[in-house]
Amino acid sequence: MDDWQELRRECLECRGCGLAETRIHVVFGDGCQTAEVLFVGEGPGQSEDEQGVPFVGKAGQLLDDMLEMIGLNRTKVYIGNTVKCRPPRNRDPLNVEMAACRGWLDRQIELLHPKILVCLGRIAAKELIKEDFRITAEHGKWFVRDGMQMMALYHPSALLRDPMKRPETFEDLKGLQAKIRELCPNTKI
Ligand code: SF4
Repeated sequence: MDDWQELRRECLECRGCGLAETRIHVVFGDGCQTAEVLFVGEGPGQSEDEQGVPFVGKAGQLLDDMLEMIGLNRTKVYIGNTVKCRPPRNRDPLNVEMAACRGWLDRQIELLHPKILVCLGRIAAKELIKEDFRITAEHGKWFVRDGMQMMALYHPSALLRDPMKRPETFEDLKGLQAKIRELCPNTKI
């Protein structure tokens, strides 16, 4: 069994926090296991919980459209979340839940060695970029953490709620595309 299979097998059995009580599926992650670009969202919603795949509801369709705008798709990137089980009624994950789940994401990052990590929304950016991250002021800006270039986009759910944010996100996507062309020789876009 390879390292990814082993990690997935272990993760699918996790009962490391209270979200294990209410989940249908652990949503491990999806995409290319050699991707140079990793997208990290907040946590699974209802559709993701039902299907066991990240970003498959309406927000997921919008994420697919956003990827396509810059020549990406799920075969060229990897997509994960800060917590792998759905918080009840889609509430924000608790700090204790994110802390319990962090090891799984860290092990995925170790296996992937991504050159670029894109946080989808405020929660992921606060967890991975910096505690005081302000999504309205700092989306699209680049940070270096643990040898990776990191940036945050508005979460697709936020873009569904507020389409006025979409032009800014399109500019952020163009910035991401330029950074991928600069740093990721194996990601053809
Ligand atoms: S959210 Fe993470 S830590 Fe909690 S049970 Fe699910 S996989 Fe385990």
